[in-house]
Amino acid sequence: MKVYNYGKQFLDDSDKKAVLEVLDSDYLTCGPKVREFEEAICEYTGAKYCVSVSSATAGLHIAMLALGIKNGDEAITTPITFLASANCALYAGASVRFADVDKKTININPNEIEKHISKKTKVIVPVHFAGQSCDMEKIYEIAEKNNLSIIEDAAHAIGSNYKDTKVGSCKYSDMTVFSFHPVKTITTGEGGAITTNSENLYKKLLALRSHGMHKDGAMKQTWEYEMRELGFNYRMTDIQAALGISQLKKLESFKKRRREIVNFYNENLSLPHIEEAEFSNACFHLYPIMIENRKDFYFKAREIGLNLQVHYIPVHLQPYYKEKFGYKKGDYPVAEDYYNHCISLPLYPELTNEDIVEITKRIKSIL
Ligand SMILES: *Cc1c(COP(=O)(O)O)cnc(C)c1O
Repeated sequence: MKVYNYGKQFLDDSDKKAVLEVLDSDYLTCGPKVREFEEAICEYTGAKYCVSVSSATAGLHIAMLALGIKNGDEAITTPITFLASANCALYAGASVRFADVDKKTININPNEIEKHISKKTKVIVPVHFAGQSCDMEKIYEIAEKNNLSIIEDAAHAIGSNYKDTKVGSCKYSDMTVFSFHPVKTITTGEGGAITTNSENLYKKLLALRSHGMHKDGAMKQTWEYEMRELGFNYRMTDIQAALGISQLKKLESFKKRRREIVNFYNENLSLPHIEEAEFSNACFHLYPIMIENRKDFYFKAREIGLNLQVHYIPVHLQPYYKEKFGYKKGDYPVAEDYYNHCISLPLYPELTNEDIVEITKRIKSIL
């Protein structure tokens, strides 16, 4: 019996060739492929600047630091996300508040954001869940009114559109962070990227990515460099960047296939699923459905070769967050109700029409 996981990377000979070429070159890291990948992301998203990093988690961390987020500040994000969207605020010494999600899209609900803004709030981290764009104009309006910054967590959303913009254009935010982990839409093994239109943020991100080191002016002629802030080694290698350049070329075809599979499931399963808003044109990363007896369904699915996954356990219900901030069950009812029923079906470009017919048949057999 063929086994299907909820997600899978897609690599072909052109990807492998791109990586092998780097292995034969002079630079395994800090070389020309990194710049080339960053320029390709700028070209694709329409953003002015891009800084590649070792992971989206690293990117979210230095995005927080570039904004000057520090001890005593607060960030607002969604409870239905991967841990990193919230943890990045903690890395910077800030604390996290959550805003409940919209019932249909399961994206952060802009009307809920305002309820959680305090004097300490500095930044909103909207997450484009499953690839669908958040309501960015509304979030931007709230941020402007309250003098807040915005970091878009677009780990799910490379290839997605918001109205007439690409996610990552930063038209309605300060920075956008992408992930290239193998479960995401395009991969570099591990890796991430930050886009921005601010030269000031761009320069800060470059320094933070590499130990806070600066080498400018007369220093360029000598061995000298200066550390002006505390940075990290969050660099991407040229091996990864070469894979990224090659993968980016396939993004539009990945998007097309992912949307075809989503449409097929929508039409042929007629199960409750997330509903994309009219302003979004998603390059879908996930296809979550809502099931009455989810735990039962999960185990039955495993028996018939479907390794499904739940996205996500609400972050505020993690023991660390409960203990540190006093969050409890019932704090975010829409998110919790969604979590109690959600499960993500297989969604990746390699799935053929026969595969999705077979998956649909198997799911119907255990409903
Ligand atoms: C995967 C993911 C991240 C972290 O990405 P890494 O590249 O693995 O660090 C952050 N946010 C969301 C929403 C994610 O799904």
